[in-house]
Amino acid sequence: MVTVYERADRIGGLLMYGIPNMKLQKELVQRRVDLLADEGIVFVTNTEVGKDISVDQLEKDFDAVVLCIGATVPRDLPVEGRELNGIHFAMDFLKANTKSLLDSEHKDGNFINAAGKNVVVIGGGDTGTDCIGTSLRHQCASAIQLEIMPRPPEKREEATNPWPQWPKRLLVDYGQKEAIAIQGQDPRQYLVMTKKIEGDEQGNVKAVHTVDITWEKNDKGQMFPQEVRRQ
Ligand SMILES: Cc1cc2nc3c(=O)[nH]c(=O)nc-3n(C[C@H](O)[C@H](O)[C@H](O)COP(=O)(O)OP(=O)(O)OC[C@H]3O[C@@H](n4cnc5c(N)ncnc54)[C@H](O)[C@@H]3O)c2cc1C
Repeated sequence: MVTVYERADRIGGLLMYGIPNMKLQKELVQRRVDLLADEGIVFVTNTEVGKDISVDQLEKDFDAVVLCIGATVPRDLPVEGRELNGIHFAMDFLKANTKSLLDSEHKDGNFINAAGKNVVVIGGGDTGTDCIGTSLRHQCASAIQLEIMPRPPEKREEATNPWPQWPKRLLVDYGQKEAIAIQGQDPRQYLVMTKKIEGDEQGNVKAVHTVDITWEKNDKGQMFPQEVRRQ
């Protein structure tokens, strides 16, 4: 017999609470969970291993223990102004949004609402794209996405990125397509590094100070971001 202990109130991990509903409908995740439950797997939610049940207890009760606890420690951005109101980790934003949606179709108000806000998403990857898509659904006033890496080429560069390497090319995902439809342009800005965040008198974010960068190699051959100094 297999028993799954889960800290959250629903099973599915990031498939349930990380990836937004518009990208992965939660009925599909739940359907799979229900199939597993029908096959005899026991799911125990709201139970944190190490707090609600000890590892010693698990070792006594079971023949084998498998740890699949994901990675819930976010990567921070230690810049001046990081402590201001209105700065959130992506997962806090996305998780609360999905939980409130599933619990009450957002009626409980227990989510970080981007309605009417000018949203800056720092990070040009998939998680950032999900934050753009979610902010647009909240009807934010505007959304931009800052990316520290260069804009990829439209097509794979055969000379430097040949098959069978993963093709590096510009992809326009749903969040960017929606932003283009609503705002008229791709929300991504490339080769941009955040230097500091400025607040108003109430401690709310007022401005994000950025600098253009290029990627240079140091004497050990490692790449580093070099600020572009304008004349
Ligand atoms: C915003 C976002 C979008 C993504 N989009 C995609 C996508 O489009 N396509 C794709 O393929 N991948 C996507 N991914 C990646 C994918 O979701 C993850 O790689 C995958 O879900 C990781 O699975 P996992 O089981 O390792 O960890 P998780 O899904 O993180 O599951 C770990 C579970 O362990 C629980 N847990 C942690 N500690 C304890 C404890 N002490 N006791 C009990 N339970 C505990 C957590 O609550 C969690 O439910 C996305 C990720 C994010 C964050």
